[in-house]
Amino acid sequence: MNKNIPFLSLKDIDAPIAAELKEAAHRVIDSGIYLHGENTHAFEAALASKCGVPFCVGVSNGLDALRLIFRALIETGRLAHGDGVLVPANTYIASILPLTEFRLNPVLIEPDPTTFGIDWQKAMKRFHEYGDKLRIRALLTVHLYGNPSWNENVASTLRSNGVTIVEDNAQAIGASVKRASGEWISTGALGDAAAFSFYPTKNIGALGDAGAVTTSCAEIADTVRAIANYGCDRRYHNVYCGYNCRLDEMQAALLRVKLHRLEEISGARRHTAGIYLDSISNPDVTLPTLIPDTHQVWHQFPILCKHRDELRDFLSVQGIATDIHYAVPPHLQPCYEGRFSGSFPVTESIADRIVSLPIAGISDEDTKKVARAVTDFKPYK
Ligand SMILES: *Cc1c(COP(=O)(O)O)cnc(C)c1O
Repeated sequence: MNKNIPFLSLKDIDAPIAAELKEAAHRVIDSGIYLHGENTHAFEAALASKCGVPFCVGVSNGLDALRLIFRALIETGRLAHGDGVLVPANTYIASILPLTEFRLNPVLIEPDPTTFGIDWQKAMKRFHEYGDKLRIRALLTVHLYGNPSWNENVASTLRSNGVTIVEDNAQAIGASVKRASGEWISTGALGDAAAFSFYPTKNIGALGDAGAVTTSCAEIADTVRAIANYGCDRRYHNVYCGYNCRLDEMQAALLRVKLHRLEEISGARRHTAGIYLDSISNPDVTLPTLIPDTHQVWHQFPILCKHRDELRDFLSVQGIATDIHYAVPPHLQPCYEGRFSGSFPVTESIADRIVSLPIAGISDEDTKKVARAVTDFKPYK
């Protein structure tokens, strides 16, 4: 009897490092220090160094990382309520929620269907045509599926026009892009500030919730750190009406174990993606495009198929689990009913056709089995 291939088994992924994780957890318990301790500081330093930025603030989760960034941009006068923020329409809803929470105006831009990131030319065009009217003062780029979404020329033109650039790096820790100078820059170091998520299914996953903010700007770092700790800049001195969004010692200690293995983790995903790219061949399936001068980290391996649901059923009967990221874009969610005008045919067409294949913790043998099954698929219609 053939073993089923799960979409993602965290238990299997963590098994090889379980002893190390337990030892790290034991050390936290023995220390009696659960917040503001050496693990948090060491993790922040390690992540800052991996990204090549001077500042990192560990926080409670990825959504809070984005909330803290946008709140800090407002508190430091870079943004004001009602300002427009360019953001890809096909992102996960967590990219949009902090914008509407702070009464910023998400200006949804269609994605580039080859990268799944924001279409930078369309973003530039919207800024030229509506920048003043919509008071566009920020752009949130989302490195969706682990693929860096960056256009140096557009980014620097926007920046020289006073636009702050934020990265949603929840899915792309360890990814990088090559600048014209030949220098490789990590995601998390490209914009003015970046949000990371360590939700368990992310490439570096906590054993619970965790997140981080990276930035090269001391003012943004200090403001984020203060707001995440009740808004105090020193003990019992509250300069903002803040939140409690701290990273705890237990998650920081566990994350240190995994961050240490970042290259190994990204390498394994790249290896699996390579097998899929080399061996899937089906006229009804569009494979992800490899973007030049880009190291991507394959948070997902998304393929497009007009007969997506039929393909999923075909794989499912062979014991192969798949998932959809994301079936319903933010502008079609009930919480945003009536909120967004305009049409987003590229976003909706991707949502109708996209399906993610298993990419993490899968053996070469199983990867080839999935690739063969996808290659064999023929739609009825
Ligand atoms: C996971 C994710 C988030 C939110 O992170 P959490 O830690 O789950 O709050 C934000 N944006 C994107 C693109 C994500 O994938």
